[in-house]
Parts: sequence; structure tokens; C-alpha cells
Amino acid sequence: VSNLERAPTVTASEECEAPAREPIRELLEAREVDLGEGTRVRRLLPKRQRATIGAWCFVDHFGPLDVSGTPGMRVPPHPHIGLQTVTWLIDGEILHRDSLGNQQVIRPGEVNLMTAGRGIAHAEESQPDHPPLLHGVQLWTALPSGSNAVEAAFDHVTDLGVVETEGLRITALMGEMAGARSPAQAYSDLVGADVEVTRATDEDLPLREDFEYGAIALAGEASVDGVALRPGQLLYLGAGRRTLAVRAGAPARILLLGGEPFGEPIFMWWNFVGLSIEEITGAREDWAAGRRFGEVHGFDGPRLEAPAMIPGRLKPRG
Ligand code: MN
Repeated sequence: VSNLERAPTVTASEECEAPAREPIRELLEAREVDLGEGTRVRRLLPKRQRATIGAWCFVDHFGPLDVSGTPGMRVPPHPHIGLQTVTWLIDGEILHRDSLGNQQVIRPGEVNLMTAGRGIAHAEESQPDHPPLLHGVQLWTALPSGSNAVEAAFDHVTDLGVVETEGLRITALMGEMAGARSPAQAYSDLVGADVEVTRATDEDLPLREDFEYGAIALAGEASVDGVALRPGQLLYLGAGRRTLAVRAGAPARILLLGGEPFGEPIFMWWNFVGLSIEEITGAREDWAAGRRFGEVHGFDGPRLEAPAMIPGRLKPRG
């Protein structure tokens, strides 16, 4: 998934609220964003007031969309730096192609993990014979200094840890949750977990006190820490919690994101995450000049060109 805004502004994490060290309940509403070809997504992160949850810095929730008789998702080749993309589907299929030569279809139950590091380009699209529904999330994690210029890599992860309780089925996409563990390689201490409510339930999930967390409803409606959560909303929970109450009267699906508060300022613009503005302007120049990122083969159409860059207003906090 790409940021297809025509005039994206720079998001500077220093202009946002600092991570909460105590438990809080901050309900944030998604912004609707058009990815082109009729694919609309709910963008839940970054928000003006909050850029990160741990290293998680971008959350797009798409669908469920009826894509039968349509091309479905078509995101042309575009570049990334300084981040990992984590793709997770509830329904449907997406074909990923990247400039390392990887070509991989992702289906529900699997994670596509792309590490951009110093630079990679990819395209994501529905195949001609795609299933009728498309429903999923694409998440980005920011890479910390020391790792943000690692070699680009792509992993298709199918052996995700799953734990089932009386009413929950917990799948670890990254990190560990309630004993479910993901083998996917992260570059900071974090967790991303799909929590499926399989029947009416009232349970406490174990959390880490040193992590900050956020919860997103992917389907249905669930109460998280007493707050009714529906798709299109992100509940930021802060840190300092040992447990999290999840209650639902019917099947539902929640995405839990957490991590050690990201210890350094980041900048985000278009499809780039950097620890400085210079990293981002350099990546923009290299994409325009056809340097660094390589070619994505097999996509039927032109690549995305970088939009004009509008600097953010950088003001000191507090
Ligand atoms: Mn992308």
C-alpha cells in the first residue's frame, strides 16, 4: 500500500503528543484515503496528535470491499525507506512484487513482511482471478537508528504463533502476545496481534507494562478497556498496564499494536520514514532520478512519481 495523496505533508513525531507513560483511553477516528481505482482505506495512523505506537507508525485498514468484477487493488510500483511493511489479510488475496525480484501472493493467515531499510520498491495488486472480497490492513514500523539503513529484504511468514482461549483466537503477526509468538524479524521491541473473538466473551489479555498499546476494531464491535470500539476507530491505551479487558457479545476482530515507546524523533513523508528530513529528500531525489531502488517487473502500468514536497511546520514541543 502506498500513500497516494497528491500533496502529502511532512509528519514529524516531535510535533505530536509524547507517548503516555500511564494508562489512558484516547479514541481516534480514521481518515478516509483514496488509493485509486476505487480502493478506499481508513487511515488510523499517523494522526496529527499521535504518530507512533511503539515503532508502529502507519495503519491502513481496507475493506471489506466487494471487488468482484473489478480490477480490485492496483498500487503501482513505488519506493520505501526506513520502515518495514506488515501486510495482513482477513479476506482476499494480494500479489506483491518488489525490486529484489520477489513475487508473492498473500492470503489470510499469512504475513508479508517487507524491510525497506535503505531502499526498496514494490507493487501490490489483485490478480485477474481474485476472490470477491478484499479486507485487510497494512502496517508500517519505523526502523530505529542502527537499523534504518539495513539491506532491503522480503519475507513471507506462514508459521505465525496462534493461541486459543475460551472465546479468543490470538495470532501474533510480530512479537509475542499471550504466549503466541511470531517468527517475523522486528528491529525494536514490539507486538502486533490479531485478536479474534470467536464467541461472546469477557477476558483479560496479558500486556507488558513497559509497552504502550493501541487497539483497532477490524470487524464487529468489541469493548476494549470498557470502550466500545468499531471499525474506523483506534483506541490509544498508553503504557503501564498489566492486562487489557476485552469483552464482546458476538464474534468480532481486533488488532492490537504495542511496543516500547519509540525513542527517537521520526519524519514521515509519502512512502518514506526517516530519522532526518535529509534522508527523505535524498530518497525523493533518488526515486526521481531512477537511482537506488531498482525496478519492479511485471506490473502493467507506470510507476508512481513522487509528489511535490510540502515541508511540515516544525515547532518545538511544550
Ligand atoms: Mn508500499
